[in-house]
Amino acid sequence: MTEEFLLPKLPYTYDALEPYYDQQTLEIHHTKHHAGYVTGLNNAVAKLREARESGNFALIKHWERELAFHGAGHALHCLFWENMCPGKEDNKAESELLAALEKSFGSWEKFIVQFKAATVAVEGSGWGVLAADGHGHLHIFQVEKHQDCFVPGLTPLLVCDVWEHAYYLKYQNRRAEWVDNFVKLINWKDVALRYSLIKK
Ligand code: MN
Repeated sequence: MTEEFLLPKLPYTYDALEPYYDQQTLEIHHTKHHAGYVTGLNNAVAKLREARESGNFALIKHWERELAFHGAGHALHCLFWENMCPGKEDNKAESELLAALEKSFGSWEKFIVQFKAATVAVEGSGWGVLAADGHGHLHIFQVEKHQDCFVPGLTPLLVCDVWEHAYYLKYQNRRAEWVDNFVKLINWKDVALRYSLIKK
């Protein structure tokens, strides 16, 4: 049986995000953690196929939960990798996306303050998310684990991983410092492209 989901290649080398994101953490994060979600997702898909073929749905709840956890984990990590590029101190969105951020949050500065605050305050393992609704308005929400607290109808454009595996080797308990440095790594061209595809 062929595997349905594959670990994507990163669009940069493992040392490309230094010094904000260290090579060792990035390599382990991609090759071990993300790869684990891909394996878990393929396994859940296979188990659900087996259940359909056998007609035995005794474990349906378990495998649907596995599908949600690993499927969301895979999708969020794919987006996270594409959302980053080599960092710079004065990193900022431009043009249409910048205007939308200013309109939705009051100003660029207010957006940044809210995005950092929401992301740092995720309880336990999870993600900070910038997402668009069907009218082009932008919203920030927190995801717990990979799949809890998702808001239906919003399309994630930008995600910041605040599981400890994402930052602990370099930042230990200093999650706020990781989030400060993540903002320097945001690939605003990627986020703008995703925003341009939203129906407004
Ligand atoms: Mn992760």
